[in-house]
Amino acid sequence: MGRQIRRVPLDFDWPLNKAWHGFLLPDRFDENPCPDCERGHSPHAESLYTLWYGRRPFDPASTGSTPWLPEAPAIRDLAERHIVDAPDHYGSGEIAIACEARRLADFFNARWSHHLSQDDVNALATADRLHDFTHTWSPENGWQKLDPPVTPTAARVNKWSLHGFGHDAINAAVVIRARCEREGADDTCRTCQGHAGIEAYPGQRAEAEQWEPTDPPTGEGWQLWETVSEGSPISPVCTTADELAAWMSDPARGDRWIPTEAAREFIDVGWAPTGVVSPGRGYSSGVEAIGWKPQ
Ligand SMILES: [Zn+2]
Repeated sequence: MGRQIRRVPLDFDWPLNKAWHGFLLPDRFDENPCPDCERGHSPHAESLYTLWYGRRPFDPASTGSTPWLPEAPAIRDLAERHIVDAPDHYGSGEIAIACEARRLADFFNARWSHHLSQDDVNALATADRLHDFTHTWSPENGWQKLDPPVTPTAARVNKWSLHGFGHDAINAAVVIRARCEREGADDTCRTCQGHAGIEAYPGQRAEAEQWEPTDPPTGEGWQLWETVSEGSPISPVCTTADELAAWMSDPARGDRWIPTEAAREFIDVGWAPTGVVSPGRGYSSGVEAIGWKPQ
């Protein structure tokens, strides 16, 4: 995760920190933007999308929900936590808490995503998107569906949505699609059938789906790659594993160096040179295992 050793030719010469071109979908697969939509939505679905994120005025009563009041315990708790976490930003004391609670209530009340109707919640439950309510989790068994099945109330889900990450984009899509269906409206742009783009030439999309990334060439060299982006080299090509370890533990690398003994251990743990590395695929390095925190 994050870092990988690749065996590349000794004369491999790809710029550092630049994604290997074989990993990137070629430009020739770029479609023309759809003239009628941004995201593949029908006009009705797009209008619901802006409502979900509060980009146009939203009224909680429109979904049968009740506006959050600054005094509501869920809002108060959150405001108090914000004040404690960042007193420099918010100030402290009752006035600061009251201001933050008011700001939070206004924020949540302006968004459909925090005021779902029961129909919206039912759609999420049907799509298996509310595991916090419908499942239990344990390390041994993972997620297990409750028996008998449970469908949470809209009030519970709306309260839950105030904390942590709340609903993600998939939940937004599920709720918007279900509401379009209930209201007898298309949810998909007719011009582009939901792709948000128009093929630049016939068959372009099918070709793009067939496309496979190409690994860099393999060889005798050792190189450190990052895999946070599509994948790019971040070290020189070294002739031996030891040389790469020396590079990694060079203090000149500032806060990205790793201690020498960690590099040595890394060699012992992850760099058994025979039979471990599969050329062309590399392998996940042992850096995380030895506590190296990549930047
Ligand atoms: Zn479109």
